[in-house]
Amino acid sequence: MIQITQQRAKCIGCNACVEAADYRWRVSRKDGKCTLVGGIEKRGFYIAKVGDDELEDNMRAAQNCPVHIIRVEMMNSAKMK
Ligand code: SF4
Repeated sequence: MIQITQQRAKCIGCNACVEAADYRWRVSRKDGKCTLVGGIEKRGFYIAKVGDDELEDNMRAAQNCPVHIIRVEMMNSAKMK
């Protein structure tokens, strides 16, 4: 599982994340900023936990975001030995 975080207030609506992962990002008609689909707001940050299969596309979204407000992290899976 991976966690995607977006600091939405700083989004400039450039569409780069939508081009990288159109199933996970959508430009809002209301304010022109991008919305993280399935994201839950927490103190200005939107967070979505999604499957590993989305890693590559969303890493590209994070890399292409010109204002660097997207973060993608691998979730620690605590494995028992
Ligand atoms: S790439 Fe970054 S600035 Fe551009 S629309 Fe997506 S979140 Fe906003």
